[in-house]
Amino acid sequence: MNIQDRLSRLRRELKRKNVGAMLVAQPENRYYLSGFSGSDGYLFVSQREAVLATDFRYIEQAKIEAPDYRLVQIKQRLDWLDEITGRTRRLGFEEGFVTFAWQRHLAEALKKTRPRLQLVPFDSIVEKLRLIKEPAEIAIIRRAADMTRKAFEYAGKIMEAGMTELRLAWLVESFLRENGSQAVPFEVICASGPNAALPHARPSERQIKAGEPVIVDIGAKLEYYCSDMTRTLCIGEPDDTYKKVHDTVRRAREAAVSAVRENATGGEVDRAARRVIEKTGYGDDFGHGLGHGVGLAVHEAPRLGPGSRDRLKNGMVFTIEPGIYLTAWGGVRIEDDVLLENGKASVI
Ligand code: ZN
Ligand code: ZN
Repeated sequence: MNIQDRLSRLRRELKRKNVGAMLVAQPENRYYLSGFSGSDGYLFVSQREAVLATDFRYIEQAKIEAPDYRLVQIKQRLDWLDEITGRTRRLGFEEGFVTFAWQRHLAEALKKTRPRLQLVPFDSIVEKLRLIKEPAEIAIIRRAADMTRKAFEYAGKIMEAGMTELRLAWLVESFLRENGSQAVPFEVICASGPNAALPHARPSERQIKAGEPVIVDIGAKLEYYCSDMTRTLCIGEPDDTYKKVHDTVRRAREAAVSAVRENATGGEVDRAARRVIEKTGYGDDFGHGLGHGVGLAVHEAPRLGPGSRDRLKNGMVFTIEPGIYLTAWGGVRIEDDVLLENGKASVI
Protein backbone atom coordinates (compact mmCIF):
# COMPACT_ATOMS: atom_id res chain seq x y z
CA MET A 1 0.00 0.00 0.00
CA ASN A 2 1.25 3.43 -0.89
CA ILE A 3 0.90 5.41 2.33
CA GLN A 4 2.55 8.56 0.94
CA ASP A 5 0.09 8.70 -1.94
CA ARG A 6 -2.85 8.30 0.45
CA LEU A 7 -1.45 10.99 2.70
CA SER A 8 -1.06 13.44 -0.17
CA ARG A 9 -4.66 12.84 -1.22
CA LEU A 10 -5.78 13.58 2.34
CA ARG A 11 -3.60 16.68 2.49
CA ARG A 12 -5.13 18.00 -0.72
CA GLU A 13 -8.57 17.61 0.84
CA LEU A 14 -7.49 19.36 4.03
CA LYS A 15 -6.18 22.28 2.03
CA ARG A 16 -9.41 22.47 0.05
CA LYS A 17 -11.39 22.48 3.29
CA ASN A 18 -9.09 24.97 4.94
CA VAL A 19 -8.11 22.92 7.97
CA GLY A 20 -4.56 22.72 9.23
CA ALA A 21 -4.67 19.11 10.37
CA MET A 22 -6.90 16.13 10.89
CA LEU A 23 -7.21 13.69 13.74
CA VAL A 24 -8.07 10.16 12.62
CA ALA A 25 -9.24 7.55 15.12
CA GLN A 26 -11.68 5.33 13.20
CA PRO A 27 -9.89 1.94 12.89
CA GLU A 28 -10.34 1.36 9.15
CA ASN A 29 -9.43 4.96 8.32
CA ARG A 30 -6.41 4.74 10.58
CA TYR A 31 -5.25 1.52 8.93
CA TYR A 32 -5.83 2.91 5.44
CA LEU A 33 -3.72 5.98 6.08
CA SER A 34 -0.93 4.38 8.08
CA GLY A 35 -0.85 0.57 7.88
CA PHE A 36 -1.16 0.47 11.69
CA SER A 37 -3.59 -2.29 12.64
CA GLY A 38 -3.60 -1.85 16.43
CA SER A 39 -6.97 -1.36 18.05
CA ASP A 40 -6.13 1.94 19.72
CA GLY A 41 -4.38 5.09 18.57
CA TYR A 42 -4.72 8.39 16.78
CA LEU A 43 -3.25 9.77 13.60
CA PHE A 44 -2.49 13.45 13.41
CA VAL A 45 -1.96 14.51 9.81
CA SER A 46 -1.04 18.05 8.84
CA GLN A 47 0.61 19.38 5.67
CA ARG A 48 4.03 18.72 7.17
CA GLU A 49 3.51 16.09 9.81
CA ALA A 50 2.22 12.55 10.08
CA VAL A 51 2.13 11.46 13.71
CA LEU A 52 0.83 8.23 15.19
CA ALA A 53 0.02 8.44 18.88
CA THR A 54 -0.57 5.17 20.65
CA ASP A 55 0.12 3.63 24.02
CA PHE A 56 2.71 1.25 25.36
CA ARG A 57 0.86 -1.87 24.15
CA TYR A 58 1.29 -0.96 20.49
CA ILE A 59 4.55 0.96 20.23
CA GLU A 60 6.67 -1.92 18.86
CA GLN A 61 3.92 -2.92 16.45
CA ALA A 62 3.53 0.67 15.26
CA LYS A 63 7.24 0.94 14.50
CA ILE A 64 6.96 -1.99 12.12
CA GLU A 65 3.55 -1.25 10.62
CA ALA A 66 3.69 2.53 10.21
CA PRO A 67 7.24 3.53 9.25
CA ASP A 68 5.94 6.66 7.50
CA TYR A 69 4.78 8.10 10.83
CA ARG A 70 6.51 9.78 13.72
CA LEU A 71 5.52 7.86 16.83
CA VAL A 72 4.38 9.47 20.04
CA GLN A 73 3.64 7.36 23.08
CA ILE A 74 0.42 8.26 24.86
CA LYS A 75 0.97 8.44 28.59
CA GLN A 76 -1.94 10.52 29.70
CA ARG A 77 -5.14 10.83 27.77
CA LEU A 78 -4.69 13.86 25.50
CA ASP A 79 -1.41 15.40 26.61
CA TRP A 80 0.32 14.29 23.45
CA LEU A 81 -2.12 16.29 21.36
CA ASP A 82 -1.18 19.54 22.96
CA GLU A 83 2.42 18.81 22.15
CA ILE A 84 1.94 18.08 18.43
CA THR A 85 -0.81 20.45 17.34
CA GLY A 86 1.84 23.21 17.00
CA ARG A 87 0.44 26.18 15.17
CA THR A 88 -2.66 24.39 13.93
CA ARG A 89 -5.67 26.69 14.06
CA ARG A 90 -8.34 24.38 12.71
CA LEU A 91 -8.25 20.69 13.60
CA GLY A 92 -10.59 18.29 11.79
CA PHE A 93 -12.07 15.20 13.43
CA GLU A 94 -14.37 12.37 12.33
CA GLU A 95 -17.87 13.36 13.37
CA GLY A 96 -19.36 9.99 12.48
CA PHE A 97 -16.98 8.13 14.74
CA VAL A 98 -16.05 10.05 17.88
CA THR A 99 -18.45 10.02 20.78
CA PHE A 100 -20.06 13.07 22.27
CA ALA A 101 -18.08 12.47 25.47
CA TRP A 102 -14.77 12.29 23.56
CA GLN A 103 -15.45 15.50 21.69
CA ARG A 104 -16.43 17.27 24.90
CA HIS A 105 -13.34 16.02 26.67
CA LEU A 106 -11.11 17.10 23.81
CA ALA A 107 -12.72 20.53 23.59
CA GLU A 108 -12.31 21.06 27.34
CA ALA A 109 -8.68 19.95 27.34
CA LEU A 110 -7.82 22.20 24.41
CA LYS A 111 -9.70 25.19 25.82
CA LYS A 112 -7.20 25.34 28.65
CA THR A 113 -4.02 24.88 26.65
CA ARG A 114 -4.92 26.00 23.13
CA PRO A 115 -7.91 28.36 23.43
CA ARG A 116 -7.70 29.49 19.81
CA LEU A 117 -7.67 26.03 18.29
CA GLN A 118 -10.96 25.27 16.60
CA LEU A 119 -12.34 21.73 16.28
CA VAL A 120 -13.96 21.09 12.89
CA PRO A 121 -16.27 18.07 12.44
CA PHE A 122 -15.92 16.19 9.15
CA ASP A 123 -18.22 13.71 7.57
CA SER A 124 -16.48 10.85 5.72
CA ILE A 125 -13.35 12.67 4.58
CA VAL A 126 -11.14 9.55 4.74
CA GLU A 127 -14.02 7.26 3.77
CA LYS A 128 -14.19 9.16 0.48
CA LEU A 129 -10.51 8.52 -0.15
CA ARG A 130 -11.20 4.81 0.37
CA LEU A 131 -13.94 4.71 -2.29
CA ILE A 132 -11.74 3.97 -5.29
CA LYS A 133 -9.75 0.83 -4.69
CA GLU A 134 -6.12 0.43 -5.72
CA PRO A 135 -5.21 -2.69 -7.76
CA ALA A 136 -3.56 -4.24 -4.68
CA GLU A 137 -6.74 -3.75 -2.63
CA ILE A 138 -8.86 -5.29 -5.40
CA ALA A 139 -6.54 -8.30 -5.53
CA ILE A 140 -7.05 -8.94 -1.81
CA ILE A 141 -10.84 -8.57 -1.99
CA ARG A 142 -10.82 -10.97 -4.95
CA ARG A 143 -9.01 -13.57 -2.84
CA ALA A 144 -11.51 -13.05 -0.02
CA ALA A 145 -14.39 -13.50 -2.49
CA ASP A 146 -12.83 -16.70 -3.91
CA MET A 147 -12.50 -18.11 -0.42
CA THR A 148 -16.15 -17.25 0.26
CA ARG A 149 -17.27 -19.05 -2.91
CA LYS A 150 -15.38 -22.15 -1.73
CA ALA A 151 -17.16 -21.88 1.61
CA PHE A 152 -20.52 -21.96 -0.18
CA GLU A 153 -19.46 -25.09 -2.11
CA TYR A 154 -18.51 -26.64 1.21
CA ALA A 155 -21.83 -25.61 2.79
CA GLY A 156 -23.71 -27.21 -0.12
CA LYS A 157 -21.84 -30.48 0.45
CA ILE A 158 -22.17 -30.80 4.21
CA MET A 159 -25.66 -29.36 4.75
CA GLU A 160 -28.20 -32.05 5.58
CA ALA A 161 -31.75 -32.25 6.88
CA GLY A 162 -31.85 -32.11 10.68
CA MET A 163 -28.70 -29.99 11.00
CA THR A 164 -29.31 -26.88 13.08
CA GLU A 165 -28.70 -23.39 11.69
CA LEU A 166 -26.12 -22.83 14.42
CA ARG A 167 -24.22 -25.98 13.45
CA LEU A 168 -24.16 -25.03 9.76
CA ALA A 169 -23.11 -21.47 10.63
CA TRP A 170 -20.24 -22.76 12.75
CA LEU A 171 -19.04 -25.28 10.15
CA VAL A 172 -18.97 -22.57 7.49
CA GLU A 173 -17.20 -20.15 9.79
CA SER A 174 -14.60 -22.79 10.73
CA PHE A 175 -14.06 -23.53 7.04
CA LEU A 176 -13.28 -19.86 6.43
CA ARG A 177 -10.95 -19.68 9.43
CA GLU A 178 -9.21 -22.97 8.54
CA ASN A 179 -8.55 -21.56 5.09
CA GLY A 180 -6.85 -18.47 6.41
CA SER A 181 -9.60 -15.93 7.02
CA GLN A 182 -9.07 -13.57 9.95
CA ALA A 183 -11.98 -13.34 12.40
CA VAL A 184 -15.02 -13.21 10.10
CA PRO A 185 -16.09 -9.63 9.33
CA PHE A 186 -19.65 -10.11 10.58
CA GLU A 187 -21.68 -12.76 12.38
CA VAL A 188 -22.53 -15.55 9.93
CA ILE A 189 -26.17 -15.45 8.87
CA CYS A 190 -27.75 -18.84 8.40
CA ALA A 191 -31.54 -18.70 8.26
CA SER A 192 -33.79 -21.58 7.24
CA GLY A 193 -37.48 -21.84 6.38
CA PRO A 194 -39.57 -19.05 7.95
CA ASN A 195 -36.41 -17.61 9.58
CA ALA A 196 -35.18 -16.77 6.10
CA ALA A 197 -37.97 -14.16 5.92
CA LEU A 198 -35.85 -12.05 8.29
CA PRO A 199 -33.06 -10.49 6.21
CA HIS A 200 -30.60 -10.41 9.13
CA ALA A 201 -31.72 -13.40 11.19
CA ARG A 202 -29.33 -14.86 13.75
CA PRO A 203 -28.63 -18.60 13.48
CA SER A 204 -30.81 -20.59 15.87
CA GLU A 205 -31.34 -24.16 17.09
CA ARG A 206 -33.92 -24.65 14.35
CA GLN A 207 -33.32 -27.81 12.33
CA ILE A 208 -33.04 -27.34 8.59
CA LYS A 209 -35.66 -29.25 6.56
CA ALA A 210 -35.54 -30.47 2.98
CA GLY A 211 -37.24 -28.33 0.35
CA GLU A 212 -37.05 -25.02 2.19
CA PRO A 213 -34.83 -21.98 1.52
CA VAL A 214 -31.66 -21.57 3.59
CA ILE A 215 -30.07 -18.12 3.37
CA VAL A 216 -26.35 -18.18 4.10
CA ASP A 217 -24.67 -14.75 4.23
CA ILE A 218 -20.96 -14.84 4.98
CA GLY A 219 -17.70 -13.02 4.43
CA ALA A 220 -14.00 -13.68 4.70
CA LYS A 221 -11.42 -11.20 5.91
CA LEU A 222 -7.94 -11.18 4.47
CA GLU A 223 -5.29 -8.59 5.27
CA TYR A 224 -8.12 -6.55 6.83
CA TYR A 225 -10.24 -6.52 3.65
CA CYS A 226 -13.69 -8.10 3.61
CA SER A 227 -15.91 -9.97 1.24
CA ASP A 228 -19.68 -10.18 1.75
CA MET A 229 -21.73 -12.73 -0.19
CA THR A 230 -25.03 -14.55 0.10
CA ARG A 231 -26.40 -17.74 -1.40
CA THR A 232 -29.78 -19.30 -0.83
CA LEU A 233 -29.41 -23.05 -0.62
CA CYS A 234 -31.93 -25.89 -0.50
CA ILE A 235 -31.74 -29.56 0.43
CA GLY A 236 -33.53 -31.79 -2.09
CA GLU A 237 -36.35 -30.55 -4.29
CA PRO A 238 -37.50 -26.95 -3.66
CA ASP A 239 -41.19 -26.02 -3.68
CA ASP A 240 -42.81 -23.92 -6.44
CA THR A 241 -42.59 -20.68 -4.44
CA TYR A 242 -38.85 -21.23 -4.09
CA LYS A 243 -38.44 -21.71 -7.81
CA LYS A 244 -40.42 -18.57 -8.65
CA VAL A 245 -38.82 -16.38 -5.97
CA HIS A 246 -35.29 -17.60 -6.66
CA ASP A 247 -35.70 -17.04 -10.38
CA THR A 248 -36.99 -13.49 -9.78
CA VAL A 249 -34.09 -12.62 -7.46
CA ARG A 250 -31.61 -14.09 -9.96
CA ARG A 251 -33.08 -11.95 -12.76
CA ALA A 252 -33.07 -8.86 -10.51
CA ARG A 253 -29.39 -9.46 -9.78
CA GLU A 254 -28.62 -9.76 -13.50
CA ALA A 255 -30.58 -6.58 -14.28
CA ALA A 256 -28.62 -4.72 -11.60
CA VAL A 257 -25.27 -6.00 -12.81
CA SER A 258 -26.05 -4.86 -16.37
CA ALA A 259 -27.32 -1.48 -15.14
CA VAL A 260 -23.97 -0.68 -13.52
CA ARG A 261 -21.97 1.82 -15.54
CA GLU A 262 -19.59 4.62 -14.74
CA ASN A 263 -21.44 7.62 -13.24
CA ALA A 264 -24.72 5.74 -12.74
CA THR A 265 -26.15 6.53 -9.30
CA GLY A 266 -26.73 3.93 -6.62
CA GLY A 267 -30.42 4.77 -6.96
CA GLU A 268 -30.53 3.96 -10.68
CA VAL A 269 -28.95 0.54 -10.25
CA ASP A 270 -31.29 -0.20 -7.35
CA ARG A 271 -34.24 0.70 -9.55
CA ALA A 272 -33.14 -1.73 -12.28
CA ALA A 273 -33.29 -4.63 -9.80
CA ARG A 274 -36.43 -3.39 -8.08
CA ARG A 275 -38.33 -3.14 -11.38
CA VAL A 276 -37.82 -6.86 -12.04
CA ILE A 277 -39.05 -7.75 -8.55
CA GLU A 278 -42.06 -5.39 -8.79
CA LYS A 279 -43.13 -6.94 -12.12
CA THR A 280 -43.43 -10.34 -10.46
CA GLY A 281 -45.59 -8.81 -7.74
CA TYR A 282 -43.00 -8.99 -4.95
CA GLY A 283 -42.20 -5.26 -4.85
CA ASP A 284 -43.20 -4.89 -1.19
CA ASP A 285 -41.13 -7.90 -0.18
CA PHE A 286 -37.76 -6.39 -1.14
CA GLY A 287 -37.50 -4.07 1.83
CA HIS A 288 -33.81 -3.23 1.92
CA GLY A 289 -31.35 -1.44 -0.32
CA LEU A 290 -29.62 -3.19 -3.22
CA GLY A 291 -26.08 -2.98 -1.95
CA HIS A 292 -23.15 -1.21 -0.35
CA GLY A 293 -19.46 -0.66 -0.82
CA VAL A 294 -17.13 -3.28 0.61
CA GLY A 295 -13.46 -2.94 1.46
CA LEU A 296 -11.74 -2.48 4.81
CA ALA A 297 -15.24 -2.24 6.26
CA VAL A 298 -17.94 -4.69 5.34
CA HIS A 299 -20.39 -1.81 4.90
CA GLU A 300 -18.93 1.33 3.41
CA ALA A 301 -19.68 3.84 0.68
CA PRO A 302 -21.12 3.90 -1.93
CA ARG A 303 -24.74 3.11 -1.06
CA LEU A 304 -26.95 1.44 -3.63
CA GLY A 305 -30.55 1.88 -2.67
CA PRO A 306 -33.71 3.86 -3.35
CA GLY A 307 -32.86 7.50 -3.89
CA SER A 308 -29.09 7.09 -3.49
CA ARG A 309 -27.21 9.75 -5.42
CA ASP A 310 -23.82 8.15 -4.85
CA ARG A 311 -22.10 8.08 -8.24
CA LEU A 312 -20.47 4.82 -9.19
CA LYS A 313 -16.92 5.11 -10.51
CA ASN A 314 -14.34 2.78 -11.99
CA GLY A 315 -12.40 1.15 -9.19
CA MET A 316 -15.30 0.93 -6.75
CA VAL A 317 -16.18 -2.44 -5.21
CA PHE A 318 -19.71 -2.98 -3.94
CA THR A 319 -22.31 -5.65 -3.32
CA ILE A 320 -25.41 -6.37 -5.35
CA GLU A 321 -27.86 -8.15 -3.09
CA PRO A 322 -31.51 -8.23 -4.08
CA GLY A 323 -33.81 -10.34 -1.91
CA ILE A 324 -37.44 -11.29 -1.48
CA TYR A 325 -38.81 -12.10 1.98
CA LEU A 326 -42.21 -13.73 2.53
CA THR A 327 -43.47 -13.92 6.10
CA ALA A 328 -44.09 -17.52 7.28
CA TRP A 329 -42.54 -19.00 4.14
CA GLY A 330 -38.98 -17.72 4.06
CA GLY A 331 -36.81 -15.73 1.70
CA VAL A 332 -34.21 -15.70 -1.01
CA ARG A 333 -31.24 -13.37 -1.29
CA ILE A 334 -28.32 -13.51 -3.70
CA GLU A 335 -25.36 -11.28 -2.97
CA ASP A 336 -22.20 -10.83 -4.97
CA ASP A 337 -19.28 -8.45 -4.76
CA VAL A 338 -18.71 -6.59 -8.00
CA LEU A 339 -15.95 -4.35 -9.28
CA LEU A 340 -16.75 -1.46 -11.57
CA GLU A 341 -14.03 -1.56 -14.22
CA ASN A 342 -13.90 -0.24 -17.77
CA GLY A 343 -17.36 1.22 -17.24
CA LYS A 344 -19.13 -1.99 -16.28
CA ALA A 345 -19.60 -4.38 -13.40
CA SER A 346 -17.61 -7.57 -13.14
CA VAL A 347 -18.33 -10.05 -10.38
CA ILE A 348 -15.20 -10.60 -8.32
ZN1 ZN B 1 -24.11 -9.98 3.22
ZN1 ZN C 1 -24.08 -6.98 2.21
